[in-house]
Amino acid sequence: MRSDQRWAVVTGASRGIGAAIARRLAADGFGVSLVATRGDLLAGVCEGIRAESGEAEVVVCDLADREQLAAVCEQLASGHPAIHALVNNAGIVRVGDIAGFEGADWDDVMEINVRAAFELVRALEPALRTAAGGTGGDASVVNVSSVMGLVACKTIISYLAAKGALNHLTRGLALELGAAGVRVNAVAPGYIRTDMFETSHPPERQVLLGRSHALERVGTPEEVAGVVSFLCSRDAAFVSGTVISVDGGLHARAAIPDY
Ligand code: NAP
Repeated sequence: MRSDQRWAVVTGASRGIGAAIARRLAADGFGVSLVATRGDLLAGVCEGIRAESGEAEVVVCDLADREQLAAVCEQLASGHPAIHALVNNAGIVRVGDIAGFEGADWDDVMEINVRAAFELVRALEPALRTAAGGTGGDASVVNVSSVMGLVACKTIISYLAAKGALNHLTRGLALELGAAGVRVNAVAPGYIRTDMFETSHPPERQVLLGRSHALERVGTPEEVAGVVSFLCSRDAAFVSGTVISVDGGLHARAAIPDY
């Protein structure tokens, strides 16, 4: 590794938005730790980054498993004394009405979307502080939230709670870490064409959802990755504690019929 190499940790980097973020940060010059459960998919993303002369490592971890999470936090902290970007992107959604809700539907969503993000920040705080080197420095945390942390709809109750919590965790962490020069922000995507989108919605609903955005289409993982790249860059040096919508104008629309 080069001595001036900036390092990033991206969770949920095996596919979808996280894989696009990892590729984009690698193209921006970051070495990247790729975290998820599917080692085979992570290896593919890793090989792709290395083929473009980037640096990456595979870190297999089930973020819902507290022992695995603790071990990986330690592994990342001891392997990378300076971490310039932590992107908490891994997330799951459970769909169903509240009558049929199981305890695990709540716990898994909270563990992966919220608790893992908090534990990673806690464990990597010294490495983020080292990278920042004080106010005016260069380290940042980006939490991948959702438009569903800002507005609500039916049948995804634990996801709404998780993404709302992640947004406020973002604001609180920005206050906790700001004096050290570590910025903390979130992005709130609208509907993005990934496995999560394809498996959550039948094709006819996918068309309707696309039309709900001001831009009248769903987004791409790369369009989210571009905003994360900005937030991890020096161009965002005075941006902290904010939730940036990357939603093609989805939540600009009031839930009343058009005139
Ligand atoms: P996706 O295609 O389903 O990918 C989810 C990622 O999270 C995968 O890399 C998956 O990796 C990882 N992951 C899931 N459970 C995990 C666990 N227990 N431990 C470690 N990694 C785990 O989802 P996506 O659409 O890219 O979503 C990424 C983020 O964007 C999520 O936080 C999601 O809530 C948010 N988001 C998505 C949309 C959308 O429309 N797609 C909209 C708003 C916000 P493995 O399967 O390899 O574990």
